[in-house]
Amino acid sequence: MDSKEVYFNKLRKKNLRITDSRKAMIDVLENNHLTFKEIQNALAKRGFTNVSTIYNNLDFLIEQKIVVELYINDTKYYDLAIDNPMHNADSHIHVVLKDTNKINEINNTDVFEYIKNTPELKDLHVDYIRITIGARKKKTY
Ligand SMILES: [Zn+2]
Repeated sequence: MDSKEVYFNKLRKKNLRITDSRKAMIDVLENNHLTFKEIQNALAKRGFTNVSTIYNNLDFLIEQKIVVELYINDTKYYDLAIDNPMHNADSHIHVVLKDTNKINEINNTDVFEYIKNTPELKDLHVDYIRITIGARKKKTY
């Protein structure tokens, strides 16, 4: 099944409406980490220009845990949440490439397990673990 169908089914199961603008929002966020401005620009290209609709849809998708908010270097980004093992518990490993400001994901759950199993956390319920790595391309001479 197409990964987007999973999101749509999740909404259908709850009898929630999958409007064209919500669909478009999931589309533009697929494999992307975008700021509000970037979402707005991407949606404008698809003909969705109503800012309050964009805000409402984002709120809605965050509430449904389909989209998560994410802060990197004091900037808020939006990211698709479900079906991404890294994001199930709001856990993220993101690599910010400083040369391009592009954000990549590392899919490695081991580090989260390792952190969760440290004695200091034994008696705590961990809401989330967020890891951000700043990096730049190695110079090749
Ligand atoms: Zn992410």
